[in-house]
Amino acid sequence: MRETTRVISPVLDKPRSRRAVNTGVERGSTVLMESAEVLYRDDIKPTYGTEGLSTQRELCRLLAELEGAEEAFILPSGLAAQTLPIFAVLKAGDHVLAVNSAYRPVRRFLDTQLARFGVDVTWYAPSATPDEVMALATEKTKLIYLESPGSLTFEIQDIPAIAQAAKARGILTFCDNTYGAGVLFKPLAHGVDMSMQALTKYVGGHSDVLIGSVAVNDPALAKAIYDAIKAWGFFTSADESYLALRGLRTLHLRLKQSGEAGLKVAQWLTTRPEVIRVVHPWLDSHPGSDVFRRDFSAPNGLFLVVLKGDGEPASQRFLNALKLFGLGFSWGGYESLAVNCEPQFIGRHKLTPEDHAPLEGSYVRLYVGLEDPDDLIADIEQALDHFVSL
Ligand SMILES: *Cc1c(COP(=O)(O)O)cnc(C)c1O
Repeated sequence: MRETTRVISPVLDKPRSRRAVNTGVERGSTVLMESAEVLYRDDIKPTYGTEGLSTQRELCRLLAELEGAEEAFILPSGLAAQTLPIFAVLKAGDHVLAVNSAYRPVRRFLDTQLARFGVDVTWYAPSATPDEVMALATEKTKLIYLESPGSLTFEIQDIPAIAQAAKARGILTFCDNTYGAGVLFKPLAHGVDMSMQALTKYVGGHSDVLIGSVAVNDPALAKAIYDAIKAWGFFTSADESYLALRGLRTLHLRLKQSGEAGLKVAQWLTTRPEVIRVVHPWLDSHPGSDVFRRDFSAPNGLFLVVLKGDGEPASQRFLNALKLFGLGFSWGGYESLAVNCEPQFIGRHKLTPEDHAPLEGSYVRLYVGLEDPDDLIADIEQALDHFVSL
């Protein structure tokens, strides 16, 4: 059976019974047991709310299905689904290789929190070839942290090649698969050991939930992650899990619509004289688009456009002129969003200058949601007409 059927069907593998279509929100700390004899049995779960009740369990089951994993775990945010597995597999003295185009808060975690526990990090550029990445590995390297396309900057990495080379040297790989939403790219099928995503984005899909997941095949890794979740007390509520579960049923449809509409808007922008570059990994002009098209089945609705302009003032004028795009962070919801990126490239996040080439215009990240793409194009057109100086 196809993936969409397996993820969407509420009857597959379940006995016929009179019940609601959806697994409900089962809130609970205490679980009442059927007899005294089973109170302390390890093989009967759940015995307490921290092990996840029916709502969390159904979500984990479907996420494992989606990621092609033996096991999937949920955490209270996407960021927690990044930090916890990293912590679960490392110890003092270990070394991590991490791509410097990764989602920024992971960088903060590795550079501040993990550094305090004696874990060293080497940041490498996403343009590094798999051989160049592996040349940075030492006998202490335990983990390679990957994200492709890069957050904000959309650089493409050859994840299958890096995963294979890492495996040959006994180094774990961990991939942020939020862009692919578990659908467009399958990290585990390409040899990656741990695949996480911010379910906050496309899986939740309605900008009303913060939740994350990590999926693995190796039972030892599953145990390490489970033990860390339990030891740290990172439990995810049934209410948040319910919203993610509901989002999963329409994920494929929404992602397809958003990705196709995003490509249409991106292609239209390439024809505009106000535009220096459209940074969209499916476009032929994008460095690495061949690898992206090989590994991903389609793009999502997120991309960057570089406008002719005087940096942040012009991108702010452009954003303020938009009528259909909300101004706000995040993406993956039903609504289109825009943010300017200059403060994330320089300034606030204190990137070193070598991390990015000098800025050459005004940087706007667009997320195309489920509105009609022609209306979005018309909105961008009027904003360009009025506010971007040629
Ligand atoms: C949003 C995001 C995260 C973090 O998710 P939260 O639920 O907001 O903590 C991680 N990685 C990527 C690529 C993201 O876009």
